[in-house]
Amino acid sequence: MALRATTILPDMIVHFDINRSKSVRAMEEAVQEEQDIFLVTQLDPQVEDPGADQLYAMGCIARVKQIVKLPKGMMRILVEGLERAELVRLTDQEEYLEAEVEIPENSGESLPANVQEAMLRSLKEIFLAYCQENPKVSRELSAQFLGLEDVERLVDQISINLPLEYEQRQKLLEASDLSERYELLGSILANETEIFQIRADIQRKVQERVDKGQREYILREQLKLIREELGDDTSMLDADKFAEAVEKLQASQEVKDKIREEIRRFKNVGYNSSESAVIRGYIETLLSLPWDKESQDNEDLKRAREILDQDHYGLKKVKERVLEYLAVRTLTGKGQGPILCLVGPPGTGKTSIARSIARALEKKYVRICLGGVRDEAEIRGHRRTYVGAMAGRLVQGLQQVKVKNPLMLLDEIDKVSSDYKGDTSSALLEVLDSEQNSHFVDHYVEIPLDLSQVLFIATANDLGTIPRPLLDRMEIIEVSSYTENEKEHIAQEHLIPKQMEANGLKKGQLIIRREALQQVISGYTREAGVRTLERRIGEICRKAARKVLEEDRKRVPVTEKNLEEFLGKIRYHFRKANTSDEVGIVRGLAWTSVGGDTLQIEVNLLPGKGEFQLTGQLGDVMKESARAGISYIRSVAERYGIKKEFFNKHDIHIHIPAGAVPKDGPSAGITMATAMLSAITGIPVRADLAMTGEITLRGRVLPIGGLKEKLLAAKKAGIHTVLVPDENRPDVEEIESEITEGLELVFVKQMDEVLEQALAERKETDGN
Ligand code: ADP
Repeated sequence: MALRATTILPDMIVHFDINRSKSVRAMEEAVQEEQDIFLVTQLDPQVEDPGADQLYAMGCIARVKQIVKLPKGMMRILVEGLERAELVRLTDQEEYLEAEVEIPENSGESLPANVQEAMLRSLKEIFLAYCQENPKVSRELSAQFLGLEDVERLVDQISINLPLEYEQRQKLLEASDLSERYELLGSILANETEIFQIRADIQRKVQERVDKGQREYILREQLKLIREELGDDTSMLDADKFAEAVEKLQASQEVKDKIREEIRRFKNVGYNSSESAVIRGYIETLLSLPWDKESQDNEDLKRAREILDQDHYGLKKVKERVLEYLAVRTLTGKGQGPILCLVGPPGTGKTSIARSIARALEKKYVRICLGGVRDEAEIRGHRRTYVGAMAGRLVQGLQQVKVKNPLMLLDEIDKVSSDYKGDTSSALLEVLDSEQNSHFVDHYVEIPLDLSQVLFIATANDLGTIPRPLLDRMEIIEVSSYTENEKEHIAQEHLIPKQMEANGLKKGQLIIRREALQQVISGYTREAGVRTLERRIGEICRKAARKVLEEDRKRVPVTEKNLEEFLGKIRYHFRKANTSDEVGIVRGLAWTSVGGDTLQIEVNLLPGKGEFQLTGQLGDVMKESARAGISYIRSVAERYGIKKEFFNKHDIHIHIPAGAVPKDGPSAGITMATAMLSAITGIPVRADLAMTGEITLRGRVLPIGGLKEKLLAAKKAGIHTVLVPDENRPDVEEIESEITEGLELVFVKQMDEVLEQALAERKETDGN
């Protein structure tokens, strides 16, 4: 019979349950025959029906002493091991396992008496050590074993009675010689003893650690009690410090009283309570706010002008508006009037102008980034009952500058949004409204703060996303894109010296030739402002710094030829105008929040049922104006010889390839209409022409915005003629001649005029 995870040794009496049918059959058979059965352990206890190769070779012949039948075909048996036997082969395994076994011959080894005595003593010693470590071995049992005087009996008794693993027993079974068994058992016992020792050691260490933690806790508690008894806990010390600070604070009596009250509460709640930390935070915030502290402004406008000019190239109109604003502010007394808002594409110097204004007025400067703020609490603070409550960003800004009249830059005011956590823009409104902001209440601070002395300046990329009421509070100053020429000046006069200094280069060590700089501007940057340009110049400076050190160069020239060494391959090739006139393709001009761009509108006609399809990155407004365009075309169809049924037999597909920035707005109206008409009539459109303008159903051309950026883009793309709505004439007059130079601007009032300019030639067509 195969055994799972048990090994029987001679003389061992055990009982166990069997349930495998082969085992049950074998047992029944054995009882019928001669009560003896060969028991052998299987190599893997998981195997259900082991063959000869899945059994150990050495097993044990045992006598069945008792059988009890249990329900479900199970059987409980009691057996006694008789002697070792070796499996020779299985003769049958159909119904149950039947095997031929061989009883190993006794080696007849007989050890000299003194050797036996030595073995006996040493085994007893090992066993004793084992019993000391293992509390489970009973005293009676160990006394009984230690009384044995025959080494063989001792080895066998220990092997049988100790709780050993079945693999260990199997090894003992396989060792038929006494000396072999003796050695095996000795090493097993020694090993087990060591494991017990290690276990005890670990337990002791764990216990020690637990005790230590407990001890510290008790000591701490005692310390706290002693402190309280003596009345000198740290909160008292802190409270004194706070009280002292209140006396020095520049604030109204009301504010001071409030803080004193909080200090009283702080003393009462007691050291170490969670509330005390909250009150401490609150008192510290109140003490750090500039209630009545202000810095002295410099109101010298002439100086202000000089500083603005020093820091920034160009921006004439912006500087002028800023100076006017400052003049009015000085004359009317502070704090009145709208808030300045600088609007323009990124990198056009909005933030840096604000910083410059602060410098000019000798005001402290603090920047509050509103981009991505959605939670009203970020502006107005959390109520103190909140876990982890904090003051809003404005209050934090004031804490930072420590005066009540700083210049506060509200950066990216167009990027605030509102969600379920309250209305951020109405919170901002309260801040910016000069009627209300002298009593601004932050939920955390609770005491009204006077923000009327703060000079707020906001920046935005796009006015479109600013809520109307907020917009009404602000005076908009537009900062527009730079021309290449302006960029070159800004780079020469500001960015290059700034970056050289930042990268540790002395004057003359780096020389960027003019052509190289122009190349950097047109080939390595593509932006309305100069932020990337500054970064590229920074890159050049870093490479140059390396050359100065590594190659020991006195000066590093950057020319058009070696520019690639510094910046790698040219990145941008501006989309050029199409080379030949094409049907159904018209170039429009777009304004995006990062500057101007040209966009190519494509129209295809397909046989169909008069459906109308728009694809590409189009906003809703653009789709509406495409529909207006088609209505117009239908109304003038006859004039172009387009048959009435035409629109019922064809589908029109308009596509605007997606640029990096989504575009929306009505200004592509005339462009789409022209493209459709060209596709329908088959008349090509002039390739060197671009246009912008809104269209009405009757074909009137309405004015558009962002003209400067659009013209810049047209010029870069190598466009020759630009169609501009007639009503935009005044805007054109304001644009520097540098931009309009080389462009032929044609002012248009009606679609007729647009088509006349755009369509290359009027062919007679039959409209199919
Ligand atoms: P914005 O706030 O508009 O995104 P920044 O004020 O951060 O742009 O300007 C980016 C960088 O360009 C700054 O280092 C700034 O000094 C520089 N800069 C922008 N415009 C000018 C200018 N007209 N003259 C000098 N430096 C400028």
